[in-house]
Amino acid sequence: MLQQTQVATVIDYYNRWMQVTAAYRQEVNELWAGLGYYSRGKRLQEAARKVVSELAGRMPRTAEDLQKLLPGVGRYTAGAIASISYGQATGVVDGNVIRVLCRLRCIGADSSSPAVIDRLWDMANVLVDRSRPGDFNQALMELGATVCVPKAPLCGECPAKQHCQAWRRVSGERERR
Ligand code: SF4
Repeated sequence: MLQQTQVATVIDYYNRWMQVTAAYRQEVNELWAGLGYYSRGKRLQEAARKVVSELAGRMPRTAEDLQKLLPGVGRYTAGAIASISYGQATGVVDGNVIRVLCRLRCIGADSSSPAVIDRLWDMANVLVDRSRPGDFNQALMELGATVCVPKAPLCGECPAKQHCQAWRRVSGERERR
């Protein structure tokens, strides 16, 4: 839910979602209505059934296994679950993280190109905090959602500005004027 939507929008849906203990597909879809994630609700239920029926009720615990074994779980979701729920030191890359990493490293290449996105995944996997990977990943995504926003980023109050090559370049240019 949080991949594409603001926290404030999601909270009510999330709370209702968490109250469902044994929902049928119709109920699942109704709870997701409004966020436009019908197929995700369906896939989530299929994944839950697979965990129960084929994996002896045990969730896969690494990003690799989550992506390989569960329907509907892609690279981002696998990395998020593995790092946040199971503490695997693996990165996540979503739209916000792409923007933050490109600015931190002053990458001007086309950030929609698969080759660039692959390099950003490599970078996220190297940067992720080994001791608190889930917190690190959530912080990076939240930084992109609230501070390093697409237009007019709030660089003055950014906790990462000392490490940011884009900020250094822009502030250096200002000083030279
Ligand atoms: S200093 Fe500015 S550009 Fe750099 S990461 Fe922070 S908000 Fe983004």
